[in-house]
Amino acid sequence: MQIKEIKIPSSKTENKAVFLDRDGTVIFEKPGVYLADPTKVRLYKNTLPGLKKLYKAGYKLFIVSNQSGIGRGYFTEDTMLAVMSAMLKKLKGIKIEGISYCPHAPKESCSCRKPLPKMGKQIIKGYKLDVKKCFMVGDKKSDMEFAKNIGVEGILVLTGNGRKQAKKYKAELKNFKHCADLKGVANYILGGKK
Ligand SMILES: [Mg+2]
Ligand SMILES: [Zn+2]
Repeated sequence: MQIKEIKIPSSKTENKAVFLDRDGTVIFEKPGVYLADPTKVRLYKNTLPGLKKLYKAGYKLFIVSNQSGIGRGYFTEDTMLAVMSAMLKKLKGIKIEGISYCPHAPKESCSCRKPLPKMGKQIIKGYKLDVKKCFMVGDKKSDMEFAKNIGVEGILVLTGNGRKQAKKYKAELKNFKHCADLKGVANYILGGKK
């Protein structure tokens, strides 16, 4: 006699995620200025509405951020963490599943600075994410290279450095979806097939 098997679908929320760059994507960045003051943290107008939509749709949200200001000696790790917690306080009603950051300066040639895949690969493995259902959102070419390197779809936002990067690296970025901001990203992701 054959044993009948009932396949219980795993929760649809458990393996899809959106990776988010911090500066210029989630929080306001004046291009070229390293944010080192937690009292100056502000979200873009559409950050919270966009992230809420994604969160409610079951996407896990992760921050993956290069914080070379630490390695360059512009601010301490504690200051950077204070900025992170100021950001988290402003992200009311959603949960950020995890925050990864690279504290090194480029000249340290570390293995974690975006676009190297380490931060993303660790999260994907740790949370058993399905890369086909994941996205990386950022305002720089390096964020899109990172997306490619971890095998997820990259989406360029035009906040922060985004608009300038889109122009400067037109050819390199042409295959990546461009969205005005995180609300546009949410609409794209949720309106699509994924
Ligand atoms: Mg950025
Ligand atoms: Zn690093």
